[in-house]
Amino acid sequence: MPDAFARALERSVPAVIAEAIAICEIPAPSFHEHARARFVHERFAEIGGWDQLELDGIANVVAVRRGAARGSRTLVAAHLDTVFPDASTPVARGRGRLTGRGIGDNSVGVAAVLAVGRALAAAAPRALGDLILAATVCEEGRGDLRGIRRVCDVYRGQYDRVIAVEGLSLQRVQTRGVASLRYAVTVTTDGGHSWGAYGRPNAIAVLARAITALEPLMPAIGVEPKTTLNVGVIGGGRSVNTIAPDATFELDLRSADPASLARLDRAAKRAMREAVATAPLTPKMPPPELRIARIGNRPGGSLPDEDALLRAVMRARAASGLTAAPELNAGSTDANYPLSLGVPATCVGVTTGGESHTPREWMRTAPLRRGVPYLGRVIAGAARLPRTPAG
Ligand SMILES: [Zn+2]
Repeated sequence: MPDAFARALERSVPAVIAEAIAICEIPAPSFHEHARARFVHERFAEIGGWDQLELDGIANVVAVRRGAARGSRTLVAAHLDTVFPDASTPVARGRGRLTGRGIGDNSVGVAAVLAVGRALAAAAPRALGDLILAATVCEEGRGDLRGIRRVCDVYRGQYDRVIAVEGLSLQRVQTRGVASLRYAVTVTTDGGHSWGAYGRPNAIAVLARAITALEPLMPAIGVEPKTTLNVGVIGGGRSVNTIAPDATFELDLRSADPASLARLDRAAKRAMREAVATAPLTPKMPPPELRIARIGNRPGGSLPDEDALLRAVMRARAASGLTAAPELNAGSTDANYPLSLGVPATCVGVTTGGESHTPREWMRTAPLRRGVPYLGRVIAGAARLPRTPAG
């Protein structure tokens, strides 16, 4: 990478810090990113020179820069949203750290992508292909990757690779996307008085059968690819002297391997249906009703060890003085969706920190000096790879 681009990115670190703070202080819980998206859209507009710049209908910000005609095309995505519903998300500075809700995950990631946009305007390396820089909504929680899904679908056929940016992932390079499925499982019965209607089916008891039926399906600890099953929330019933007319629980299934997840999904549904169908019945009472409603679906996939994108990331690390070997991790980020489509994708970061998704979230500022130019090198490196056959 020509030195001018790297130097511009190194010089951008104080601006990245200031911008990360400004972004963080605009609350942006999933599904409510509009104010933060407008701020980021304005910053992209100030940079200028885009072939296309949009704030789309769900508050994704997308900036497109056309490059060399036959160059490979790269989509870069940093999510805007946070897990915090708070009306105020102040940032504190001190001792080489920034502390604030969402500062590392992912305000600094968005700020770093803006810095790349600025450095491109000032000193773009030659021969880069098209670049699509996106700030996406709904990466967290129940957002189900709504933002990146839309960007990937709208721009389908216009990118060869995807690089997701998670602020705190400087020592991690994502090579697998953990797929997950989430359900709200509800049992309903006629209920009745615990004395007077005694013997009618009880929704809580039937639901308990369904949960117990899942137990033998729980994947063993240490099994590869790692696959998990969790009942995370339970509720139901009316009063101690009422036969419960309804009961519900939430189920989370995950795997580093989509096929294993699909098998577990089928087995779990079968087991729950069987458990409810075989619940003891009072003659003449209608059988309990079971409803399995999907409340979450995050797709997954993986980047092969020998993929050119992974090699480009490793070259960028070496060129940026990041000597410690990174953890090649299985994650759940904006990279998951393109991975599920078979598009080479990864997720990288620009600094380190901790306690994300808690009110104590913090990040270090010193690693940005290498981390921000590293992100630029990853993007420029990806943009120099050959086009993928699918692209
Ligand atoms: Zn994140």
